[in-house]
Amino acid sequence: MSKVKNLIVGCGFSGVALARKIAQERKEKVVIIDIKDHIAGNCYDYRDSNGICVHKYGTHIFHTNLKPVWDFVSRFTKGYPYQHKVKGLVDGQLVPISFNLNSLHQVFPKSLANKIELCLLEKFGFNKKVPIFRIA
Ligand SMILES: Cc1cc2nc3c(=O)[nH]c(=O)nc-3n(C[C@H](O)[C@H](O)[C@H](O)COP(=O)(O)OP(=O)(O)OC[C@H]3O[C@@H](n4cnc5c(N)ncnc54)[C@H](O)[C@@H]3O)c2cc1C
Repeated sequence: MSKVKNLIVGCGFSGVALARKIAQERKEKVVIIDIKDHIAGNCYDYRDSNGICVHKYGTHIFHTNLKPVWDFVSRFTKGYPYQHKVKGLVDGQLVPISFNLNSLHQVFPKSLANKIELCLLEKFGFNKKVPIFRIA
């Protein structure tokens, strides 16, 4: 039996991506082990008895804004364009999440929303993403 130089613990995206790179670029053997009885880590899905795709650990949608990541993944699978909008229920209203200026205007009375908007724009500038803890 030939010796295996690389042992990867964890068969999620990180483990398999690393294994692929080692196997392909270094032409070395890799063994991946996982405590779970399936591949894919948190991203694991399966078909139930009705043929419905179940994401065992919670819904996963592949997204990236990094072209190298997209190119890498596209070598192994085909993606379908998909869009969704996340809304949160705040005081009985569905508002956009992540919280943005539209959410602000939906949640607060007009004059107050205008004031807060001005403050935010003054402090952070236009079209900036700001962690909520920096706003508080
Ligand atoms: C509910 C939920 C929803 C998510 N939604 C999205 C999404 O929509 N889009 C997105 O891009 N990302 C999403 N994520 C994040 C995504 O799941 C992770 O980024 C991704 O799974 C990370 O992959 P990983 O290989 O680093 O870790 P994991 O997927 O956690 O894989 C690690 C693997 O290592 C194994 N392991 C750990 N320790 C040991 C050990 N000591 N011995 C043996 N095996 C071990 C584990 O069993 C596991 O299989 C979501 C995460 C959760 C929890």
